[in-house]
Amino acid sequence: MLFEKVKIDEKEYYRVSKDELSDFVVSIFVKLGVPKHDAEIVAENLIMADLMGVESHGVQRLKRYVDGIKAGAVKVNPDIKVIVDRPSMALLDGDEALGQVVAHRAMRMAISKAKGEGNGIAVVGVKNSNHYGIAGYYALMAAREDIIGMSMTTSRPLVAHTGSVEKFIGTNPIALAAPVEGEEPFLLDMATSVVPSGKIEVYRRKNKKIPDGWAIDSRTGEITNDPNLALSSEGAILPLGGLGELLGGHKGYGLAVMVDILSGVLMGAVWSKHVGGTSDKHSDVGHFFMAIDPDVFVGREEFKKSMKKMLQELRDAKKHPQFDRIWTHGEKGFLTAATRNKIGVPIYKKVFAEMNEIAKELGVEELKPIDRS
Ligand code: NDP
Repeated sequence: MLFEKVKIDEKEYYRVSKDELSDFVVSIFVKLGVPKHDAEIVAENLIMADLMGVESHGVQRLKRYVDGIKAGAVKVNPDIKVIVDRPSMALLDGDEALGQVVAHRAMRMAISKAKGEGNGIAVVGVKNSNHYGIAGYYALMAAREDIIGMSMTTSRPLVAHTGSVEKFIGTNPIALAAPVEGEEPFLLDMATSVVPSGKIEVYRRKNKKIPDGWAIDSRTGEITNDPNLALSSEGAILPLGGLGELLGGHKGYGLAVMVDILSGVLMGAVWSKHVGGTSDKHSDVGHFFMAIDPDVFVGREEFKKSMKKMLQELRDAKKHPQFDRIWTHGEKGFLTAATRNKIGVPIYKKVFAEMNEIAKELGVEELKPIDRS
């Protein structure tokens, strides 16, 4: 079945083979001085987003990463240090690395600590890092090894918390992945705001209005449909649950603060309005990773069996008339990835042109679309 969770207008997109896209992104980072192995991690993270239908965090972000490296805000050869290392926890100083590079190392440590020496559980934190892409990438690393993974990160201030109008807290994502018997893992991967900023950027690039409820005009507090205003210093994104308390905006706000506590305050990194963007020096992004081995609780095999049963029960519930199917988290993303592995990853034509501009400037071979004639 060729399923894609987001319907795209094929006229506005090129399709690119996943492997060629990966080689291209790796070449760009290598040309900028990033070691090949590190470049491969960043490419895998960005392309997983595009494969799973998360355009907001895919290769449309390449330019921002390139600009961050050029501006000297992101180090291509960082001296990542393990500051604390205990049997079931560690704390890393990312030395302003590409977020994906230090985050991948931290999650690997969390997985091996949780699985090793009968610990069963491990937390690894990172300070002094940068934007790490999609949170789900790291959680999934654990689920691929039959254990539960969690990942969170602070991010730059773009969201007005309940009662305020200014950009103050981050879109601070949370991800949890868990293995399931005989199928892809459960993967909840979400911003704690109504939408991440990248989704608004997608609307801006397409000159489309954003839906009611995503953002406000900070000068008046009124809802805005203008993506430019939402992303400017005169607008702000709303927390998950939206404006005010009626539909639970205060709960999205609370989840974002929870992420700031665990990834920022606890790790000795900064939080909310103090976090910098990819092109700011000392953005000091903090991350939190946790790995839990079900073996020390119910047992790995029983956990996976029960997960399968639980997800099936959710899918089999009586359907709302407006839905023809009940999904569980990650299902749509994995089906989309299977399709895109076959027919190519869609890249918006303006983004494609921007990527080839970067390639031209760096002397890297340009990306070619799949010929669909
Ligand atoms: P979405 O709203 O697209 O999806 C959130 C979750 O819900 C996903 O796990 C998705 O799984 C699932 N889902 C979607 N529809 C359904 C449904 N009908 N039933 C059950 N589950 C469903 O995510 P966001 O837009 O909030 O976030 C996008 C990405 O942005 C995330 O990867 C996040 O990590 C990243 N992000 C990164 C930040 C950073 O600073 N690094 C900041 C903010 C966000 P599925 O894949 O199956 O659709």
